[in-house]
Amino acid sequence: MNAMRVEINPEVAAFLAREHRLFIDGEWSAAVSGARIAVFDPATGSQIASVPRAGAEDVDRAVAAAHRAHESGVWSGLPPATRERVLLRLADLIEAHAEELAQLETCNQGKSINISRMIDVGASPSYLRYVAGLATKITGETFDVSIQAIPGARFNAYTRREPIGVVAAIAPWNFPLAIGLWKVAPALAAGCTVVLKPSEVTPLTSLRLAELALEAGAPPGVLNVVTGDGQAGQALVAHPLVSKVTFTGSTATGKAIARAAADRMARTSLELGGKNPAIFLKDAPLEQAVNGALVAAFFNNGQVCAAASRLYVAREIYSDFVDALSAAARGMSLGPGLDPAAQINPLVSAEHRDKVLSHVSRAREGGARIIAGGAAPPGAGYFIEPTVIVDAAESLPICRQEVFGPVVTITPFDDERDAIRMANDTPMGLGASLWTNDLKKTMDYVPRLKAGTVWVNCHVFVDPNMPFGGYKESGVGRDFGIRALEPYTELKSVCIAH
Ligand code: NAD
Repeated sequence: MNAMRVEINPEVAAFLAREHRLFIDGEWSAAVSGARIAVFDPATGSQIASVPRAGAEDVDRAVAAAHRAHESGVWSGLPPATRERVLLRLADLIEAHAEELAQLETCNQGKSINISRMIDVGASPSYLRYVAGLATKITGETFDVSIQAIPGARFNAYTRREPIGVVAAIAPWNFPLAIGLWKVAPALAAGCTVVLKPSEVTPLTSLRLAELALEAGAPPGVLNVVTGDGQAGQALVAHPLVSKVTFTGSTATGKAIARAAADRMARTSLELGGKNPAIFLKDAPLEQAVNGALVAAFFNNGQVCAAASRLYVAREIYSDFVDALSAAARGMSLGPGLDPAAQINPLVSAEHRDKVLSHVSRAREGGARIIAGGAAPPGAGYFIEPTVIVDAAESLPICRQEVFGPVVTITPFDDERDAIRMANDTPMGLGASLWTNDLKKTMDYVPRLKAGTVWVNCHVFVDPNMPFGGYKESGVGRDFGIRALEPYTELKSVCIAH
């Protein structure tokens, strides 16, 4: 065993050993069916916990609790500054339990403890504090009214933003706690009540979050957590008392949710998959470009919606870039997330590892060349070597479909217009990056890239103050930013004749 490996804290071991339950109305309860889902450590493949597999009856109990809490006004009726204070306390509690939460995330998700510490847990208090501050800034507008339908009458018209009601928050497995909070926090700040369903693969930190939210002062029923698979998600989306679904996950699931929600006009915010390009122009400094590409492609083992999975590189620097990137990829160390020195960690599940490997095999069969990695090393755990692919025809699935693993294609271009065309030529449009110091080209190309975020000389950087979401099939709506609460409100116009 590596001497650097982090030993898990006693409170993490104790949490893992618990008999986990659903968190409904401020209390823990088993699933009605008694069914459970096994939870694994991706670094070893061994089971570390199990959680209830919520069924439709459990989802109904959770939604009913959230609905009662909403209707009673126990949360929406509080002064906004009180809701703000609860969220600020939650941020403090996350900070106070940071190491515990980071270790728990790494044990369950497999990611590097460095990422858990810095991003999943480390960045969450700042995000929560940003959103908490928005609770006291919900405003409407006043209007002058022109049409004189009633002779002599005068009107006063204004809008108010009201909490939308019960929000179903459905989260993926790549940043379980952080993305769970991206859904839950704006809903709570707006005065909504929430049922959070984490991914069945990574439910543990959400259960701990439920306890911390109660400790922070969220009244029972305001935040409920149900663990379960896609069927529990479906039951939530279909529930007549759920007013809004906020979802982060794959495009396929997002489409299924959009269709189901449309049946009863439930509101949706959908943050979906990406097939994100990074374009390196000929003036991009090579070392900075290669280091940037490594992070963009392999951060969190490529399990990042905005990861750069297609690199387009100017012919003038292509061969040096390919040599440097593939050498760096071959030199990356593989190891468990609890080893802070390991640069590549396991993927989240055996199923996902096999899916990523099949993408690589299909690319090879399609005539692409794998010049680094491409295999799963022998031994336990769901590892895949960082993989660099060249000579992949643009029509191959590897260039069009999201892989969501440490796999990147590199394609040369002679004409920059071709690079922009290829970058835009997928159904997705989450993020894109441009690497150049040429200001004129930057200003010319940024508007032409069809992506919700365009980074220049960086990639995958997100901030609570910067709206984040997708063009095209990468989603509907935006997380973050000063208007982050609006999707959790209904806009009511009030017209008073006097
Ligand atoms: P997924 O779509 O398989 O699952 C996401 C969640 O949806 C899980 O909780 C799952 O149980 C639930 N679910 C599955 N089927 C459902 C259904 N029919 N109805 C309701 N809920 C259902 O996604 P994943 O594999 O957990 O996560 C990876 C995906 O998430 C990738 O595509 C990635 O790009 C995307 N993602 C997007 C963003 C973003 O901000 N755009 C961020 C992170 C991840």
